[in-house]
Amino acid sequence: MSEQFLNYINGEWIQAKSGEVIESINPANWDEVVGVIQHSNQEDVDLAVQAAKSAFKNWSKMSAVNRGLFLEKAAALLEQRADEIAEIATKEMGKVLAEMKGEVLRGVAILRYYAQEGMRTNGEVLPSASDEKFLFTKRVPLGVVGVITPWNFPVAIPIWKMAPALVYGNTVVFKPAAETGVTAAKIVEIFAEAGLPQGVLNLVNGDGAVAGNALVEHEDVHAITFTGSNAVGRQIAAKAALKGKKYQLELGGKNPAIVLEDADLELAANLTVAGAMKQTGQRCTATSRVYVHEQVYDTFKELLLEKVRSLKIGNGLDPNAQMGPVASKKQFDTVIGYIEKGKEEGASLLVGGGVPKEQGLEKGYFIEPTIFENVAHDMTIAREEIFGPVLCLIKVKNYEEAIEKANDTVYGLSASLFTNNLGRTFQFVDDIEAGLIQINGETGGAEPQAPFGGMKESSSNSREQGQAAKEFFTTIKTVTVLPVH
Ligand code: NAD
Repeated sequence: MSEQFLNYINGEWIQAKSGEVIESINPANWDEVVGVIQHSNQEDVDLAVQAAKSAFKNWSKMSAVNRGLFLEKAAALLEQRADEIAEIATKEMGKVLAEMKGEVLRGVAILRYYAQEGMRTNGEVLPSASDEKFLFTKRVPLGVVGVITPWNFPVAIPIWKMAPALVYGNTVVFKPAAETGVTAAKIVEIFAEAGLPQGVLNLVNGDGAVAGNALVEHEDVHAITFTGSNAVGRQIAAKAALKGKKYQLELGGKNPAIVLEDADLELAANLTVAGAMKQTGQRCTATSRVYVHEQVYDTFKELLLEKVRSLKIGNGLDPNAQMGPVASKKQFDTVIGYIEKGKEEGASLLVGGGVPKEQGLEKGYFIEPTIFENVAHDMTIAREEIFGPVLCLIKVKNYEEAIEKANDTVYGLSASLFTNNLGRTFQFVDDIEAGLIQINGETGGAEPQAPFGGMKESSSNSREQGQAAKEFFTTIKTVTVLPVH
């Protein structure tokens, strides 16, 4: 019998009232149940929200400097347990251990950044038209925040939402993706060990449509921070808006890279492969389309193929593996469906496109790294987010054509330009419709102190991380003080 992981409500580890559980399956070996998590229902969510509501009064009154001390402890504990937590997360969602360890250490860095937040400014003094008035603002927490997260960054995303939520004085109910519910329980264990007062952080594991929806609909939840698919995000936005809740969405991407004629092609090929295939392509910021100047197209293509062919696929726990399985059967079916669609619509398959035949991979959701060329602009694989190890290689005549095609999408998350031309670099910053821009780097985010998020349909145009998080997790009181004469 696999180990059972409980919900964490009001400082206690408890079973879901539903009495039901969900198995978390290892995508590298579907016979292995990594753990059993709770299938929470409305009643469980009610209890968690009630606990968070009761805890809010004292927590929000505590000084932010003191709230930060809990995050500092959590950072130290997470660092100590980084190997253990990375291994569990790799077993749950498949990414290779080195990448997972990097993600856990990013979680540590985020906790350390927000641990210091209580020592930073919390408002401003404004000039007044009157000689006598003292006019200032003070940032205050929102109340109970619902945190809903995907499985693809099972450590970093929950932490980059929960750490700022908590340090700014909110209390939290956390509903992670069911695929990574065990990892979520481990993260909450760290916060509990750090001594967070009861009710300040609560975990309800379970299904999105049941537990996630109950959280979104709950009258006593004041804000929802969500990362996940566009379809679910839009539903959440509509429900939150109807109930007058603040919401924040970080959604999908169809991220382009552009390789110009003067680029360092070796660098560009290495970083395009990393951008597309790292984490088996399951990053919202993954490179999905690469537009290459016709003068260097053939050379770049050869380099790209050489690098992709050398990628070693395997169980994420195998230290030689460079690419693990996709996260679940659902992901496998979706990605294979897109590959089939690409073939049907007439794109040319250059490499991959199937399931690897190596021994030991038979019981996992492995997919070969895949590159298509001759991809017309209106083909499904050029337009929709695939969220798997699939890259479209596209020849362009010049920079202008590349920009036009790169921008012709509903998404606007991340984009890269490979060039040595400084003028083009700044032109690209102006031209490209993306919230996260990389010059001679792979598509991706930046560092924890920098804002993260997308333009267009890739987000609600709010930003996470760094000081940007303050905009979402606080509201402002404007205070005017008049002296009494
Ligand atoms: P998903 O939308 O299926 O699920 C995300 C979360 O929402 C899960 O916790 C799920 O249980 C919950 N959920 C599902 N239905 C719900 C409902 N009706 N009400 C409330 N909650 C519900 O997404 P996923 O498959 O877990 O993640 C993949 C997606 O996430 C991709 O589109 C990817 O691009 C996106 N993503 C975006 C970012 C970013 O920062 N922009 C980062 C990572 C992933």
